[in-house]
Amino acid sequence: MKQNYICTTCGVQYAASEGYPVEICKICDEDRQYVKPSGQQWTTLDALQKDHHNQLRTVEPNLTGLSTVPSFTIGQRPLLIQTPEGNVLWDCITLIDDDTVAALNTLGGVDAIAISHPHFYDTMVEWSEAFHDAPIYLHRDNAPWVMRPDQRIVYWDTEIFPLLPDITLIRCGGHFPGSSVLHWSAGADGKGVLMTGDTIMVVTDTRWVTFMYSYPNSIPLNRTAVERIVAAVEPFEFDRLYSGWWEKVTQTDAKNAVKRSAERYIKAISD
Ligand SMILES: [Zn+2]
Ligand SMILES: [Zn+2]
Repeated sequence: MKQNYICTTCGVQYAASEGYPVEICKICDEDRQYVKPSGQQWTTLDALQKDHHNQLRTVEPNLTGLSTVPSFTIGQRPLLIQTPEGNVLWDCITLIDDDTVAALNTLGGVDAIAISHPHFYDTMVEWSEAFHDAPIYLHRDNAPWVMRPDQRIVYWDTEIFPLLPDITLIRCGGHFPGSSVLHWSAGADGKGVLMTGDTIMVVTDTRWVTFMYSYPNSIPLNRTAVERIVAAVEPFEFDRLYSGWWEKVTQTDAKNAVKRSAERYIKAISD
């Protein structure tokens, strides 16, 4: 029987295949990810549903985070944004089940899905199916890393993509050529919110952020790439920045934090 296999290291689901789709996961077999020392392993959504569940938590008005328990792959926390014109799921996780769909439907469901980069593509097609074929917005430059092509994927190829009146997608590049962030103008009491996945990553001292080519392998970006990211978000006002994990949030003064952090970073990688 054909199965949509899921890589247990990155959580990305592949197009249906008899037997494993590839020997080594294409997302993991490169510098930005890794293959576990124990080797490539696969699972399925059915198997994952048996011993994992999702938790939801409000992080600010009209913004809900969700994550999988026990933690699966890199333990990210996507966000559901509720707006008057519709709800957007920013980034994704592998586990989707009936409880999660019911919980999100009490918040108005999901009208559109937008994902920062391939490490969070996960089971995006399953999510779309569960929410009435919600379109999945991906930057076209990341298309080579889509392992389960689907007609519900909408590729955008501009630098800025207005998704809803309150929500704009911004291509920053860096970690991946199409690495993107989401600007929500109504967030943080109208002072603006930026959601960044790991395109811009809040660090342990949450007043600061960083920019990396590879997080698991600690490979930095160069000066040009970092300056390009800062320039891409410069036209937008934001006070708060959510990167892709629960604790990785710069609560206030985030736009200055991005600028300060870029200066510190470039100084550190310069001669
Ligand atoms: Zn993988
Ligand atoms: Zn990543």
